[in-house]
Amino acid sequence: MSKVLVFGHKSPDTDTVASAISLAYLLNELSVEAEPVTLGKLNPETAFALDYFKKEQPRIIETAANEVEQVVLVDHNESQQSVSDIDKVTILGVIDHHRIANFETTDPLYYRAEPVGCTATIILKIYKENELEVPADIAGLMLSAIISDTLLLKSPTTTGEDYGAAEELAELAGVSLDEYGLEMLKAGTDVSKKTASEILNDDAKSFTMGNEKVRIGQVNVVDIPELLAVKKDELVKAMKEEIRENDYDLFVLMITDIIANNSEAIVEGSSYRKFEMAFSKPIQMNTVQLGNIVSRKKQIVSPLNEVFNRNQ
Ligand code: MN
Ligand code: MN
Repeated sequence: MSKVLVFGHKSPDTDTVASAISLAYLLNELSVEAEPVTLGKLNPETAFALDYFKKEQPRIIETAANEVEQVVLVDHNESQQSVSDIDKVTILGVIDHHRIANFETTDPLYYRAEPVGCTATIILKIYKENELEVPADIAGLMLSAIISDTLLLKSPTTTGEDYGAAEELAELAGVSLDEYGLEMLKAGTDVSKKTASEILNDDAKSFTMGNEKVRIGQVNVVDIPELLAVKKDELVKAMKEEIRENDYDLFVLMITDIIANNSEAIVEGSSYRKFEMAFSKPIQMNTVQLGNIVSRKKQIVSPLNEVFNRNQ
């Protein structure tokens, strides 16, 4: 079989990158030639994790069909989050932990979805099923993915399997879960050198809800009021531009305090009332306190989706 590319979603996060690397390693061990790649530049948190475990950054691709016929998707399935020419390649498999939407293939495939906190947790199970040892550096990356997706096992998306996997991987990687975890999360909170557009899009995803286009970004910080004081006006302005250029009906930026485990959001767009409806909270001057909400997937996408579908 010719080479397979393994990649996660656009605006790559630590799970997307670590899962691509660890699954490609596993496929190679099983004699399937596979290369992990990413659909964009790495964020500082992911770069920190790769640097810490001395792994090279994967190559960035714009399109896939120009070099391979087959791909494996990790950490996503929605076509608008995938490579731009996803319709021109065969999807050999998907390993994911998100809702399934806008996904269709012409051929049968391996599809593994589990409602756990992180794709790497599923990949660890696949290593075990194949009786493969996880090398220390790969274990470190998979651990980083779980820490990132579950905010150090504090997000409500965390399952017992994620806890177990994190403990096992920390031991294999030879690091302290809490110490390494906080260090890695903090590496992702320095936004001082980022432009407004980078803060909005570095960890953003697009969703189709009802008939509308919704963009939801998330940024981790250690001081929410400080970010708002310094960057709010700039962020709202950049959001308006993004909305004009991409026809989004709603743009949400979740600003998450990784120490206190709560979030505030900046909201803009013509469908802002649906956001207010979903959370029963008024948006004031584009911002809204969300309390102990930290998970985009479970605590933002799900309630929003319900309102957008109800009002069609
Ligand atoms: Mn992800
Ligand atoms: Mn993930």
